[in-house]
Amino acid sequence: MQSTKPHAALLASPGMGHLFPVLELGKRLISNHGFHVTIFVLNTEASTAKNQLRDSPDSSLLNLVPLPPVDISGKVGPDAHIVTQLVVMMRESLPGLRSTISAMKSRPTVLIVDLFGTEAMAVADEFMMSKFVFIASNAWFLTLTAYFPTIDEMAEDEHIKEQQPLKIPGCKPVRFEDTLEAYLDRNNQMYDEYTRIGREITAADGILVNTFEDLEPTTLRALRDSKKLGKIAKVPVYTIGPTVRQLELPVMGNPVLDWLDMQPTESVIYVSFGSGGTLPAKQMTELAWGLELSQQRFIWVVRPPVENDVSGSFFTVGKISDGTPNYLPEGFLTRTKDRGLIVNAWAPQTLVLSHPAVGGFLSHCGWNSTLESLTNGIPMIVWPLYAEQNMNATMLTEELGMAFRPKASESSGIVEREEIEMMVRKIMVEEEGNRIRNTVKELKQSAHKAMEKGGSSYCSFSQFARECEISLK
Ligand code: UDP
Repeated sequence: MQSTKPHAALLASPGMGHLFPVLELGKRLISNHGFHVTIFVLNTEASTAKNQLRDSPDSSLLNLVPLPPVDISGKVGPDAHIVTQLVVMMRESLPGLRSTISAMKSRPTVLIVDLFGTEAMAVADEFMMSKFVFIASNAWFLTLTAYFPTIDEMAEDEHIKEQQPLKIPGCKPVRFEDTLEAYLDRNNQMYDEYTRIGREITAADGILVNTFEDLEPTTLRALRDSKKLGKIAKVPVYTIGPTVRQLELPVMGNPVLDWLDMQPTESVIYVSFGSGGTLPAKQMTELAWGLELSQQRFIWVVRPPVENDVSGSFFTVGKISDGTPNYLPEGFLTRTKDRGLIVNAWAPQTLVLSHPAVGGFLSHCGWNSTLESLTNGIPMIVWPLYAEQNMNATMLTEELGMAFRPKASESSGIVEREEIEMMVRKIMVEEEGNRIRNTVKELKQSAHKAMEKGGSSYCSFSQFARECEISLK
């Protein structure tokens, strides 16, 4: 018998920052609307996805399907930019997606893809499915992505030649230094890929975006105004955020949580650069000094420094006398052991940020980390590394007032220890820190309101679910 509920298929790009929000979206479609959900992942992501779905609301409605493995070695060199590799992987996975859907007894009726999966919307057309894009970032980034093909068509490239901001009608311009690398070089393969993605987005039946109305009212108004954004504004935009990871299942005896349990309220700054980010070695040394000089409590998720900065034997990974990795200052672990915790590569971030002892987050401001901070009312120090993180940093500091941004020294190009010390003290103990803490607590309330029954994101999500139901009839 035909089910009366839509069957939504979600396609996730690789990388935790893409995978996690897609999985959360799938869980929400089940728990809020009783949809059947199939989540397609690349086979490299299958075990992470399975692990994340341990707490899914109703496993009888959820189907996790790893796609057949793909080999991209003949298509891109091993040195290609990570995003190029990712885009090619998604492209190569399309035949597997097509054959998998074709073999399914109960075919999905809706396909939801993320930013790097937009080419799969052609597969949705072949199977007469409705097709949506889920932008796991904010509306400002979505608008830039959707508008960039227009900039490209108008051959308006002063932003490249003159280092000018990118102007988007009705929105805050994107400063040259915040502009995604891909948009700054017409000869870069990523320029064409991002421009194509921008075009494909506007062919969707609708766009889901991980933001909420009160967070970005001006941008959202422009995005829906055809006088400003022409055909882009014709695509329905559903603000469904903040869709954040539910709390991870706590592990008994986790050393990070045990340590946090012993610290005073809002006394610890959490330092992390996302699921894979790290810093050049010299910058890591300065950060270590800055944390030490600040005299504040900290948890720092440390990964070895980026390789291109590894010069000579000093930075080869090893341990010095007290166990400190040799890209951190000698004796750092000993001197900070009473108030600092170094975590190797990965921390249970949702549990850390929701712990009452945490009072600040020094972050690369990936959008998931940002929303996790916001929904816990934690003010941030922003330290963007790549992708749209510079835009996020500008939004958080200049528009939302929930973060501070350290400045790199003009002579060395790195953020020096005195600046880091000053920032950490400012956020953790000074009046200005209190001010932004109050601001982010207000944002937390407004995020909560948006998600509860009758709130803007709740209603928008229900509207999207209704569209899927209508397309079923
Ligand atoms: N994360 C985590 N522990 C870590 C680092 C990251 O749980 O030590 C999670 C974090 O909670 C977030 C995701 O990984 O959900 C990172 O996504 P984000 O968009 O912030 O950054 P990306 O890794 O994509 O740059």
